[in-house]
Amino acid sequence: MGGTNLRIAAISAEGQMLEKITLGVKVALGRDHVIGEMCDAIKHLSEKYVGGGKFLGAGIGVPGIIDIKTGMMRKSANLPGWAEYPVRDEIERRLGARVLLNNDAKVAAFGEQWLGAGRGVDNMVMLTLGTGIGGAIVLNGKIFYGMNGMAGEFGHVTVEPNGVLCGCGNRGCAERYASATAVVRMAQEAMAAGLAPGLAKAAADGELSALTVYNLAMQGDADARRIFRRFGEVLGILLADAANVLNLEMFVIGGGVSSAWDAFAPTMFEEMRSRSIVYAATAPEDPLDEKKTASSLRETVVTRSILGSDAGLYGAARLPIS
Ligand SMILES: [Zn+2]
Repeated sequence: MGGTNLRIAAISAEGQMLEKITLGVKVALGRDHVIGEMCDAIKHLSEKYVGGGKFLGAGIGVPGIIDIKTGMMRKSANLPGWAEYPVRDEIERRLGARVLLNNDAKVAAFGEQWLGAGRGVDNMVMLTLGTGIGGAIVLNGKIFYGMNGMAGEFGHVTVEPNGVLCGCGNRGCAERYASATAVVRMAQEAMAAGLAPGLAKAAADGELSALTVYNLAMQGDADARRIFRRFGEVLGILLADAANVLNLEMFVIGGGVSSAWDAFAPTMFEEMRSRSIVYAATAPEDPLDEKKTASSLRETVVTRSILGSDAGLYGAARLPIS
C-alpha cells in the first residue's frame, strides 16, 4: 500500500507471482473506501488462485509506523485518519483469513531476503531510498522489530549535527541528504545561488526531478555530480555507522533513487571505507563489481536490490507463509 496506489499480488508459498494488479487508491475517499477496495481485490485473487490449496492469508505493507502486536498504525504521513484504528483486525474480519500488517520498508527487506539480493543471507540491512529513507534490519532470517516495531529508522539517523530540519523534528537526518526529495532540494539550493547553469536550464524546460538531476550528472554536469557525491557521502556515513554497529554480511539499497547508483555509489564506497573500521577490514577488493554479490561471510557486500518495486509484494506475501 502506497500513498498513491495499491498494488496487490497473488503469490504462492514457493514465491511464484501468479498475478499482480494495481489499483489507484483514492485516499481522499477515506479509510473505509480504501480497505473495501483492498479486500475486494484480495478476495478476487484468492478465490481465483486458491485451487485445491489453501489461502494462507494476507500480508500488507503500509507506509507508516506500525504497532506489530496490535496491528494498528501509530503514525502515517501519507495516510491521514488511519492512526489508532484497528486496521489489521478489520481486514481480518472482512477476509475471514489471517492478516499481517507491517511497515513497507520492512516487507521490502523481507522480500529481498527471500527472493532477491539477500537470498540465503541471514543477516542484512535494507535501505529503501525514495521520498525518504526506509530501513529494515534482518537478523537470523527474521525482521528485527525492536521493542514495538520501530527499529530500523535509518532515515532519521543524524549525519549533520546542525543540518537541514527534518519533518521528525531533528536536524541533519540522513534522508534530508540521500533521498529523491533531498536531490531536488539540493538542486534548488544550487540554482538559488545562481551557480548551476545546467540545472537552471533543465528546470526551465520542465519540472526538476531527481531523475533529471541524475541524467545531468551522467552527462557530466558538475553541479549535478556534486549533488550525487553529497548523496553518496551521506549514504556512506550512514552505512559506515551501521557496519560498525552491526557487522552484517549484506546491505541492500533499494527504492526508486537506487537507480542513480552509478552517480552515488563510488563516493558511498569511499566514505564507507574511510569511516568504518569494520567495513575497511571486510570490504571486497572491488565493491562496484556486481557479479560478486554472494556473501562469503568474510566480506561486507553492499549491493542494489534485485526485485525493485516488487520487493514489497514478495515480502508482504511471505509474512503469512513464515
Ligand atoms: Zn528525521
